[in-house]
Amino acid sequence: MTETKTAHYTIEDLGNGIHAALARPDGFAVCNSGLVDLGEGGVVFDTGLTPDSARDLKSSAELVLGRSPSLCVISHRHLDHALGNSEFPGIPIWGTRRAREVILETRDQTMAELKREQLEKDIGELESRRPEMKSEAAVKDLDFILLMNRALLASAGRLQLIPPDQTFETRVSLPGRRGAEFVSFGSGHTEADAIMFLPQEKVLFAGDLVCLGIQPSMGNGDPEHWLTVLDEIERLRPEQIVPGHGPVTTVEGLEEVRGYLTGVLRAAGASKGAKLPAAIRRWEGTLSLEENVKFARGWLAAHRSRR
Ligand SMILES: [Zn+2]
Repeated sequence: MTETKTAHYTIEDLGNGIHAALARPDGFAVCNSGLVDLGEGGVVFDTGLTPDSARDLKSSAELVLGRSPSLCVISHRHLDHALGNSEFPGIPIWGTRRAREVILETRDQTMAELKREQLEKDIGELESRRPEMKSEAAVKDLDFILLMNRALLASAGRLQLIPPDQTFETRVSLPGRRGAEFVSFGSGHTEADAIMFLPQEKVLFAGDLVCLGIQPSMGNGDPEHWLTVLDEIERLRPEQIVPGHGPVTTVEGLEEVRGYLTGVLRAAGASKGAKLPAAIRRWEGTLSLEENVKFARGWLAAHRSRR
């Protein structure tokens, strides 16, 4: 497989004008993206965390597609997937209707959190917590959050949160001969997530509905419906899946995410913490695990009381 390294990404050529832009661990993109030639025009799937990484993504798109991208699609509203939107002015940005709504509802608060003084304060607090971390894994997780905050601080004053200006509910066919589909199966990782599927080559860009090697956050979504969404994804019979975080995978990656979600739900429902499958316990993000179990416990309690 051909690989190209840029400052923020490793670009993997998946063949036929399809590229996975995998976030480098030392870069400021944080999430994976996709660059796909649509036949007429090209699409960028997810725009990454910072203006610097988004500019890198844009020039990578120009290089591998041989032209400027003609549209962007955003899998969900989280900042590491959508804050780079600001570097793609003048072209349509597609996302789910609900993702746009939540971005607009929370934008003032988000922008306050992205102010230089606030980022400096947060970084100071994170640094002071570092010596209290009980394990090497916890230090690593904290360092990852620190990296994200430092990346944002490096761009403070230039950050703008631009919501998708083109929205849909369940499915939209992207222009061009490729026949690419942008599809939402509803709530899972967030209030409304979307995937991009290329039916001829059976390549699927999953956003954070699939995270591998790093624990996904569950607190904005619906953990039980997420499992249904994974079944819907499997029904498309994808041969290659580009996750939101982690390496390119196959349907086996869906099974790993199922193991994670059912493990967290089981741990949340058990009186004494049930254990996650061994392979998943090694995933980065032990701080997310505590939060996920806490969220799932509240979610299950609310869900049961409604039955
Ligand atoms: Zn996310």
